[in-house]
Amino acid sequence: MNVLVINCGSSSLKYQLINMADESVLAKGLVERIGIEGSILKHEIEGKDKVVIEQPMENHKVALTLVLGALVDKDHGAINDMSEISAVGHRVVHGGEKFSGSVVINDEVINALEECIELAPLHNPPNLMGIAACRELMPSVPMVGVFDTAFHQTMPKSSYIYPLPYELYEKYGIRRYGFHGTSHRYVSERAADMLGKDIKDLKIVTCHLGNGASLAAIDGGKSVDTSMGFTPLEGLAMGTRSGDLDPAIVTFIMEKEKLDIEGINNLLNKKSGVLGISGVSSDFRDIENAAKEGNERAQLALDKFNIRVKKYIAAYAAVMGGVDAVVFTAGLGENSASNREDICTGLEFIGINIDPVKNNVRGKEVIVSTDDSKVKILVVPTNEELVIARDTLELVK
Ligand code: ADP
Repeated sequence: MNVLVINCGSSSLKYQLINMADESVLAKGLVERIGIEGSILKHEIEGKDKVVIEQPMENHKVALTLVLGALVDKDHGAINDMSEISAVGHRVVHGGEKFSGSVVINDEVINALEECIELAPLHNPPNLMGIAACRELMPSVPMVGVFDTAFHQTMPKSSYIYPLPYELYEKYGIRRYGFHGTSHRYVSERAADMLGKDIKDLKIVTCHLGNGASLAAIDGGKSVDTSMGFTPLEGLAMGTRSGDLDPAIVTFIMEKEKLDIEGINNLLNKKSGVLGISGVSSDFRDIENAAKEGNERAQLALDKFNIRVKKYIAAYAAVMGGVDAVVFTAGLGENSASNREDICTGLEFIGINIDPVKNNVRGKEVIVSTDDSKVKILVVPTNEELVIARDTLELVK
């Protein structure tokens, strides 16, 4: 049985076709610049040449039509015809308080997702466009929605409530939702497997460190706290997002810089984080290189990023009353040995001891703590697509 996994952004569509018999990726690809000039589809099948199709794609339906065409193409396709796609799994960013797990998509679910648009105005509309396109082009194929927020719905109220007038939670749903849930769930489960332990017996801090970055405190397999909040802006300093701030800074900047709501949102989401501090780039590779060449602001950006991750790890150990494992994942977490080392150094007092030799790895599942470290430190490459495909299979079976 093959599952097509779809992840739609406002102008992009990522996909993977996964054969669930052995969980192998039959084909994967990416459409970029949907609805703008220069639309492009890059399609990959292992063992075959990469295919690049450049032609106007005015919306997600046109893009998906081309993707499906590429999947069944005689030369560069992976399947003979569309009937070999048994189900579609959609990544959906925000499920609000309604969804604490993945669901089979029907009209009722779509209505509920439309109600969540207010909570995720940038993310849910493109997710819904992807769902609508699939429904039109593959009306008889069952579909499942897998939410970034769902895994964190187990947080206790004391973690998710903000110290604001309580009515604002009741009126507008202002609370912590958390994101990257699919990734935090996957890597925590893998970590338990790697340690040969039942996840129910473990207290784990997962660090998803990519362009967007968040930590989660996972006690007995359940998320009990996470650093992203009402939106993905809270928490760590990220590629371009500020993360935690004194909220009074927001109105102060608006007044001084004469910024409206769009202007301040743009500043906090697109111009801040390590890009804002370094003035170099939002890409950690560029910042690490600049820091090595002596750029002080690049070093400052890395220091700010690392100290925040460190603070959250210690805070989450306190939240859970201990920690058995710290897991690093996503672009930076999987690949940057120096970041992992800087983050862990200084946390020996809670039993976190990184082994610099074992830590010299990238993109592999490895335990990188010293043999006698009380807390195990693991690198686990994330695989959100596989979780989406597994949930989809489970629900449509
Ligand atoms: P997202 O999915 O949020 O866009 P990723 O998980 O792909 O992000 O992570 C992207 C980040 O990972 C970039 O900032 C990139 O610089 C960083 N990264 C990737 N490889 C390395 C590496 N070898 N060393 C340091 N940083 C890396």
